[in-house]
Amino acid sequence: MNLTLPSSEPDPVASCRDCLGIAVTRANARSVGDYSKASDANVDLRVHLREGHGEAGSADADRLTDGELRSTVRAE
Ligand SMILES: [Zn+2]
Repeated sequence: MNLTLPSSEPDPVASCRDCLGIAVTRANARSVGDYSKASDANVDLRVHLREGHGEAGSADADRLTDGELRSTVRAE
C-alpha cells in the first residue's frame, strides 16, 4: 500500500473486475510517476462507479463528472 495521493481518490469495488482493472492501471501509472495517467484512471473509476454501481444519483452523474474532469485538468 502506497498512499501518496489525497484521499479524494475513488476506491475500487473488490469484487468487480472493471474496478480492479482501473485500479491496477492507476497503481501502475503512479508507480512510474505518470500522475496524468493516474488522474485519468481516477476519472474513469469515478465514472464507472457511478454508472456501473450507482454510487451517486444518476441524474447528477454527468454534471458531477464534468466538474471533476475540469478540476482534474486544472490540477495538472
Ligand atoms: Zn466496478
